[in-house]
Amino acid sequence: MADDSIAVVDLDRCQPDRCNYECANYCPPNRTGKECITTREERHGDDAYEGDPDQISISEDICLGESCGICVVKCPFDAIEIINLPQELEDEPVHRYGENAFSLYGLPAPQDGQVTGILGPNGIGKTTAVHILADEFTPNLGDPNAEPDWDAVIDEYRGTELQSYLEDVQAGDVTVARKPQYVDRIPNQFDGNTRQLLESVDERDVVDDLVDRLSIRQVIDQSIDTLSGGELQRVALAATLARDADFYFLDEITPYLDIGQRVTAARLIRELAEEGDRSMLVVEHDLAVLDLLADSLNVAYGEPGAFGVITPPKSTRQGINQYLSGYLENENMRIRPEAIEFERHAPRSSHRGETLAEYPDLTMSYGEDEFTLDVEAGEILKNEVLGIVGPNGIGKSTFAKLLTDRLEPTEGEIDTKLDISYKPQYVDIDQPMRVDAFLASITDQFGSSYWETEIANPLQLGRIMEQNLTDLSGGERQRVAIAACLSKDADLYLLDEPSAHLDVEQRVLATRAIRRYTENHDATAMVIDHDIYMIDLLSDRLMVFDGEPAVRGETSPPVGMREGMNRFLSNLDITFRRDQRTSRPRINKPGSQLDREQKNAGEYYYA
Ligand code: ADP
Ligand code: ADP
Ligand code: SF4
Repeated sequence: MADDSIAVVDLDRCQPDRCNYECANYCPPNRTGKECITTREERHGDDAYEGDPDQISISEDICLGESCGICVVKCPFDAIEIINLPQELEDEPVHRYGENAFSLYGLPAPQDGQVTGILGPNGIGKTTAVHILADEFTPNLGDPNAEPDWDAVIDEYRGTELQSYLEDVQAGDVTVARKPQYVDRIPNQFDGNTRQLLESVDERDVVDDLVDRLSIRQVIDQSIDTLSGGELQRVALAATLARDADFYFLDEITPYLDIGQRVTAARLIRELAEEGDRSMLVVEHDLAVLDLLADSLNVAYGEPGAFGVITPPKSTRQGINQYLSGYLENENMRIRPEAIEFERHAPRSSHRGETLAEYPDLTMSYGEDEFTLDVEAGEILKNEVLGIVGPNGIGKSTFAKLLTDRLEPTEGEIDTKLDISYKPQYVDIDQPMRVDAFLASITDQFGSSYWETEIANPLQLGRIMEQNLTDLSGGERQRVAIAACLSKDADLYLLDEPSAHLDVEQRVLATRAIRRYTENHDATAMVIDHDIYMIDLLSDRLMVFDGEPAVRGETSPPVGMREGMNRFLSNLDITFRRDQRTSRPRINKPGSQLDREQKNAGEYYYA
C-alpha cells in the first residue's frame, strides 16, 4: 500500500449510469477480490456519504498508488486522480472536504498591521483557507468523519504564527471583510447605484475619500449594473476597505485595472493595514503589484482540484523568486520543471519583418466634446507581437477598431482594412453550450492534432472540454476565449487583457501559446495588457498610449521595447530595478536613490 498517496474522485464527472465501472473491473486489487474500488453505497451502507449511491469510493488503504493508475486511464470521464503526495510533505491536512475529495495542507498566517500575500495557482485551496480563517467552518484536520473541533486545530498550530489568530477566531473575536474574485458578478447581487452600495458599508466613514482616491466619483450615481469591469473592481475595493474589520481578504485586486490604478489600490491596502493594525490577506497574480503590496508571502502549490499546500510565510522577495525559479527552498519542493526568466536587457531592436499594415495620421472623435484620439502614422509588422500599453479609457480599443471595418476615422483614411480576430476585455461567452461544441463551431481544425498541439494543449483545455460555458471559472473562461480568438483565420489577432483571472502559471502558458502561434503561423498579434511582466515576456515592440483618460488620447508609432517601456513608465513616473539574484524587475520606492538615478538616466525598466 502506498500510504503517501491520495485518491480523488470528481463527483461532478463520475457518471456510473454511463459507464460499466471500467475503473473497478480493471483495478488490480479488485481483481484479487479486495474492495479497493466499490460503490459509495457498498462501502458505507446506509451511513451518510456524499454523492450518489452508485458513484465510486476508492480505498486509499488498499490502492497501489500513482504507479498503478489504471483506473485513471480507464475512466471515460477523467473523474479519477491518484496522486503520490510529495515525500517532503510531513504535515497532516488541515481539512479534507470528504472521502476522495480535495485536501488542504497548511494555512496562511494573517498578522496585525501587515499585508500577507498568497501566491499560487487557481483551485489550490486559497478560498478554502480563507473560509477557515473567517470561521465559516471548523476544519476537520483531514478526517471527514471526525467531529470538527477548534481545540484540536489550535493544538495543531500551537507555537506557530497562527496560534493567537486562531484563538481569536475560536472566541468569535474576528470580524471579516472580503472582496470577491469575480467582480463581474456583483450586479447580480446588488440592485442600486454606486452611492447606495458604498453608503451601506461605510462603517469607517471613509467612502468619500476612497471615492476620490480610486477616481470613481463620476460613476457615483450610476446604477451598479451599468459599470465597466474596471469601475466595478474599484467600487468593490472601496466597499471592502470601507468596512470596519479585523481581517480583510482581497481575492485579486488587479483585473481590469491599469497600472496606475493597481498601484493606488496597493497603497490603499497598505495604508489601512498600517494605520489600523488590521490584517490583510491578498491573493494576487500580478507579481509586480504583489511585490509592492505584501509584507510576507505564503506560496501555494499542489495539484489543483486534488490537494493544495500553503507554505509558512516567506519574505515577499524570496517567495516570488522561489516561485518563479520553480523550486521552494525551505520546503525542498520542485513545483515546476523550469524557471520563468526575464531579460535584463531589452530584446535586440525589433526584427525588421515585412509590413502587415501601414496607417497614416488619424483622428477619431466620438462627437463634439467627446473623446478624441490622435494617432501618428505607423506600421505593424508581419509576425510580431505588438504590446499595447496605456491607461484605461485612452483610446486603445478605439485604435483597434479603426484598423477594422467597425469604425471610420474622423480624419485620415486606412487603405486596407484588416481582418481582425478580437478577444474583448470582458469575456462574454455565457451560452448554454459545451466548450468543445463552442470551439468546434469556430474552427473546422477543432480536434486535429495540429490544433491540439498549438492551441488546446498550451491553454490546458483538455479537462474542461466537456463542461458548459456557463459553469466555467473566470480563468477557464479566459483560456477558452483566447483559444477561440487564435482559432479563427485572421490577419491580426487582437487580445485585450488576456491576463485577467489567469494565475501565474496560466499567464506563462498563455504567453507561450500566443508567441508560438504567431511564430508558427506567420500571424501577427496585438496584446493590450496591464501586467508588466506579461507584456515584457510577450512583446517584440510596444505601442504606447498617453493623454487624459476619457478626454483625449494620443499615440506614436510602435517602438522597440526599451524605448517603449521608458516612454510608458515615465508617463506613470514609476521605475523598476532588477532583483540581483533573478533579474526580475521590481518597482522602485518613489524617491529612493535608485528611483532618482534611473529617472535622471532615463532608464525606467531595462536599467
Ligand atoms: P482556490 O481559491 O485556490 O481557487 P478553492 O479553495 O476555491 O481554491 O478550491 C480548492 C478545491 O476544493 C477545488 O478543487 C474545489 O473544487 C474544492 N472544493 C471547494 N469547495 C468544496 C466543497 N464544499 N466540497 C468539495 N470540494 C470543494
Ligand atoms: P481603452 O481601450 O484605452 O480603455 P477606449 O478606446 O475603449 O479606451 O475608449 C476611450 C474613450 O472613448 C473612453 O472614454 C470611452 O468612454 C470613449 N468611447 C468609446 N467608445 C465610444 C463610443 N462609441 N461613443 C462615445 N464614446 C466612446
Ligand atoms: Fe485500483 Fe488504485 Fe490502481 Fe486505481 S490506482 S486501479 S484504485 S489500485
